[in-house]
Amino acid sequence: MTMTYTPMMQQYLTIKAEYEDAFLFFRLGDFYELFFTDATRASQILEITLTSRDAGSKERIPMCGVPHHSAQNYIETLVQKGYKVAICEQTEDPKHAKGVVRREVVQLITPGTLTEGKTVDGKSNHFIAAADPIDTGFSYAYLDMATGEAIVSTVEGEARALVLQLQSYGIKEVIVPEHLTAVMSPLTAQLGITLSVEDEVKEQAYPHIPKALHTSCGRLLRYIERTQMRALAHIQDFRYEETANHLRIDASSKRNLELIQSIRGNDTKGTLLWLLDDTATSMGARKLKQWLHEPLATQHLIEARLQIVSDLLDGFFVRAELQAMLKQVYDLERLAGRVAMGSVGGRDVAQLRDSLRQVPFIQDQLINAGYDSLRALGEQLDTCVDVEQLLAAAVTDHPPISIKEGDVIRDGYHARLDELRDASRNGKDWLAQLELKERERTGIKNLKIGYNRIFGYYIEITKSNIHLADLTRYERKQTLANCERYITDELKEKEALILNAEEESLSLEYDLFVALREKLNAYIPRLQKLASALSELDVLMSFAQVSDNYRFVRPTFHEGKALLIKDGRHPVVEKMLNKDSYVPNDCLLTEQENMMLITGPNMSGKSTYMRQVALITVMAQMGCYVPASEAKLPIVDQIFTRIGAADDLAQGQSTFMVEMLESQHAIANATARSLLLFDEIGRGTSTYDGMALAQAMMEYIHNEIGANTLFSTHYHELTTLDQALTRLQNVHVTAAEQDGKVVFLHKVKRGAADKSYGIHVAELAQLPTAIITRANELLMSFEEQPAVSTPIIEQVAEPVAQLSLFADEPTSAERKVLKQLQQANLITSTPMEAMNLLYALQQQLKK
Ligand code: ADP
Repeated sequence: MTMTYTPMMQQYLTIKAEYEDAFLFFRLGDFYELFFTDATRASQILEITLTSRDAGSKERIPMCGVPHHSAQNYIETLVQKGYKVAICEQTEDPKHAKGVVRREVVQLITPGTLTEGKTVDGKSNHFIAAADPIDTGFSYAYLDMATGEAIVSTVEGEARALVLQLQSYGIKEVIVPEHLTAVMSPLTAQLGITLSVEDEVKEQAYPHIPKALHTSCGRLLRYIERTQMRALAHIQDFRYEETANHLRIDASSKRNLELIQSIRGNDTKGTLLWLLDDTATSMGARKLKQWLHEPLATQHLIEARLQIVSDLLDGFFVRAELQAMLKQVYDLERLAGRVAMGSVGGRDVAQLRDSLRQVPFIQDQLINAGYDSLRALGEQLDTCVDVEQLLAAAVTDHPPISIKEGDVIRDGYHARLDELRDASRNGKDWLAQLELKERERTGIKNLKIGYNRIFGYYIEITKSNIHLADLTRYERKQTLANCERYITDELKEKEALILNAEEESLSLEYDLFVALREKLNAYIPRLQKLASALSELDVLMSFAQVSDNYRFVRPTFHEGKALLIKDGRHPVVEKMLNKDSYVPNDCLLTEQENMMLITGPNMSGKSTYMRQVALITVMAQMGCYVPASEAKLPIVDQIFTRIGAADDLAQGQSTFMVEMLESQHAIANATARSLLLFDEIGRGTSTYDGMALAQAMMEYIHNEIGANTLFSTHYHELTTLDQALTRLQNVHVTAAEQDGKVVFLHKVKRGAADKSYGIHVAELAQLPTAIITRANELLMSFEEQPAVSTPIIEQVAEPVAQLSLFADEPTSAERKVLKQLQQANLITSTPMEAMNLLYALQQQLKK
């Protein structure tokens, strides 16, 4: 049987066919309706009732709907879960429609293009990206629809590197050509990124962007154009983020170092961002995040930022004044975006005006603060006074959000509007006088003039007073329980005047607002520039404030590789600890000795020490002061880390495999100017495997790369390597015993650690006393035996006679060995301990 859907249903199906991968919100009167599988799935996700509807076919079809006025929440829920929503509106007045009302999709809302709503955090950028393969890897363009920022860059390596890079920016949606979907989709699915396809590329000029990267820019713009269907004048020219100009930190290192996201959980607490963020504006918070993503690698640019921080730090009062002013600046960037997208409301333009009002004061402070760096900042500022003047003249002090209720445009801005307002105000005065007059004439004190939509203006008299009125002059309109409502000819005449004036004034006000909005469009690039300047100032003030709070110092830079940090601290760990309990440590890498092998018991602070060197590097290259008493630093091109992270497993890879992949990535890309941190390399495999790998890697880095490298290990055997590797120095983190318990001193000293405190750590962890006692016994017996100290264990040839060990009666020495073997607790020993035991036993037998 052929399906015979109703004409409306056929219209639905035609539209739906173009939006297969989206939920189609189909406008029907006051509702958006969903049909078929859209309906069944949406009803589950949104927990709304599934119904059905006759659509002309044999069977009823599934349907669910949401009221038009509360649709925003439902749309956001779907989009935040990674789905797309196509909004299909009635695009002609149903009264004028012949047949089915015309309907069209007016916007496709996707995870990367959702820029407004309760769930959208203004302190973060919301980027959408497009990617294409290029010779060396991938190019990717990304932009924030709310602020209009647009950037293009490249990443080397496979699709995995690309997707991790995108994820580190928090990008929720990536657009690729069809042929890339096969390789991309497993990766994006794993990381919760929405994958979209766009095969067309918008041809246009992309100033200052290398040719090879144009495709990604054009693909992104084409997709935005196709899905958003509205003016986007605020989207800026793409900025080429050249990797050579920045300190590059790959996505997993950003996570390992907890720059922006903590390793456990998605919140920012415990991250460097959390520590450094004392910004006053959302724009500043976003800028800080961007700087964390891409610290600088050019000395004079770093010094320029540091100089401003230095002056702000010095000028305490200027800083306090500026802070107070910046707090009154709203999110200029997002406001400019709303102007461009046509979604700006009354309150938004007032916020824009009030923010701009602060700018001349900010400029004044900067210029007159008495510091050259601040004066230069102030002089460069385009304060956009003309925009402020325009808005000051046009917009009322406290306009409502909506632009349809009036009270947005100021008196005196437009002559005709003033006239209309006068007319309606005069009319209202007239009404007030009429009320007084009628009260006097009738003597009815509670006679009043009221208004409702159906009957317009009326005179209302309570029933008990009606006998007092001269009803011949009145025409009765409405009877209520306790009163009567009347009109007069005179009243109706005035009413027409008042209502016309009001209606006309509202509609004129709306038109004036739209015209104002259009005028503002021309100022968007200048507003964006101002926003960028203010947000940079905000971040630098935040640096100054934080540096002041935590006693940071200004770092200095030099051309070489040597690194000197005196009394360095890990700023986040320090902040989390009790006051003054953090133990500062020096770090000294010289041109001749720029690799460090750090030994020490677990929990002594090896990893913290390594991270603090990396964080100090990142902070310094962002232009911030650093947690130390002195820091002389090289300029680093890239940081690589191999530090065990808790969420490796979530990505479906074995920890050891991740360890090897990250090591490979570091070794393949590091240069002599990079900083490498390798924490406990080889821990993920068996002892000898791990030790061998660790040693081989150190040798390779030493001989082939020459990068500044910090290596931590619990393989004491590796500490002898400094004899062969001239650029390697041993340091150890000290611990002491007090009353048989270990106390971590967290102090880093030269030389190798001499004793393992593993058992004491086990004790601290409250393992059963039986195990601790037994381990101590075993340790003592090992210590009586000759130690295995060379990293490479010689293979010892076994005499054949030993095979007959059990053939004859055992000697007393052999019985002693057997007894030890029997008593050994293999469950609690590490492979290393077992090996030592075996070796010791064998030695005894050989005697
Ligand atoms: P390891 O890498 O040696 O196992 P961690 O670096 O993870 O040890 O440090 C363990 C804990 O010791 C940290 O969580 C921190 O609380 C504390 N810690 C580390 N370094 C210091 C320090 N310099 N001063 C004070 N406490 C520290």
